[in-house]
Amino acid sequence: MPDVFAIIRRLRTRAGLRPFLTNNLGYMSWDDPILRSAPGVAPRCWLGCFAGVRTVGVASDGSVRGCLALPYEMREGNVRDEALKSIWRDPARFAYTRAFTLTDLTGACAACEHGAVCRGGCNALAMRVHGKTGTCTHCMAQHEDAARAPVDAPGPASA
Ligand code: SF4
Ligand code: SF4
Repeated sequence: MPDVFAIIRRLRTRAGLRPFLTNNLGYMSWDDPILRSAPGVAPRCWLGCFAGVRTVGVASDGSVRGCLALPYEMREGNVRDEALKSIWRDPARFAYTRAFTLTDLTGACAACEHGAVCRGGCNALAMRVHGKTGTCTHCMAQHEDAARAPVDAPGPASA
């Protein structure tokens, strides 16, 4: 993945190209503030999934999900049965983001210093890979932390 980041960095210097990271390249990389931002706008990093908070999707059958990348079983209602406004304003729905707490994180995400911001990465990806939200193995922070860990750290000096 560092190679991909290097390619993106290089391409960003070319006139007419505006490559930047999306969530399929992982989260919370040290390169996030630079590579996740479109050239010419203020740097930003990954801020977690906003499905059901800032985004909503309506599928062709009328079913409503916080994001249409989420699996069908995470539908919150159907606009053929009730108004989208009623679905959206129901505080009991979209609980995976609206009612998220740090205790929802599992696996490496549960111990991650970025958990409060990242909230376990993309919920659609987590569902596809793990069958649940709150955990993601598709994470740049984990890879970078592993790469920084000393492999052959010297033991304590002998007296
Ligand atoms: S370990 Fe989990 S919470 Fe931490 S940055 Fe990666 S995906 Fe996000
Ligand atoms: S589920 Fe993934 S693709 Fe959809 S809004 Fe959340 S982070 Fe974005």
